Amino acid sequence: RQQVFRLTTGSSALDNLLGGGIESSAITEAFGEFRSGKTQIALTLCITAQMPKTSGGGMGKVAYIDTEGTFRPERIAQIASRFNLNPEAVLENILYARAYTVEHQFQLLTLIAAKMTEEPFALLVVDSIMALFRVDYSGRGELSERQQVLGKMLSRIMKISEQYNIVVYITNQVMADPGGGVSFVPDPKKPIGGHVLAHASTTRLYLRKGRGEQRICKIFDSPCLPEGEATFQIGPGGVEE
Ligand code: ADP
Ligand code: MG
Repeated sequence: RQQVFRLTTGSSALDNLLGGGIESSAITEAFGEFRSGKTQIALTLCITAQMPKTSGGGMGKVAYIDTEGTFRPERIAQIASRFNLNPEAVLENILYARAYTVEHQFQLLTLIAAKMTEEPFALLVVDSIMALFRVDYSGRGELSERQQVLGKMLSRIMKISEQYNIVVYITNQVMADPGGGVSFVPDPKKPIGGHVLAHASTTRLYLRKGRGEQRICKIFDSPCLPEGEATFQIGPGGVEE
């Protein structure tokens, strides 16, 4: 195993909760309701991934698979300025791709893995992992097939993570209907993707909104971290104290 490193999130409280940052050679999943901060963390990691390792960075390029169309180059530029980095240079180091189908998402992973043999990467983002599966396998009888394809995709992602020693940050949605069609109250504590995703994610983080721009992150599942919570802010500079 190569030297595992930890990538700073931009918040020292969150980094401490994570034992120093988000670890490489592993899959870290963040789930939570709409606006809980999943994408803002992803955007912030796009910058810190490029910083020197002595500053908590990953000293590498970024691959970003966007399935929801929420990547914002102007946010990247804004967050880059906070870290005193050149916005254009930072953007150039992000290999961005919008995925439209599960098949497309798979193809992009193959393309990204090929790029990784050529240049040093530090981070792979998939925001979000399940959105296209929900669309492409929406039929009643398609769940087992969906889970099978999901399992394949996640093992591909894990292989990329270990082979190139990169941080993988994936986001996930929460269950919209825990009541089996009876109740339509969203359950913020139930990530979708079932056992397949639960087993594939090394560390699972549950995000929720606090007061104002405050967000709370809770360790939902981890092989080595104690249970706990951290509070951080989302501001112009991305994930902040
Ligand atoms: P999701 O979990 O749905 O991906 P996001 O990560 O997109 O949520 O978080 C959206 C929230 O981030 C917004 O509701 C807002 O509170 C905050 N936010 C987004 N952009 C900015 C900004 N430029 N300055 C301050 N806060 C921002
Ligand atoms: Mg989002």
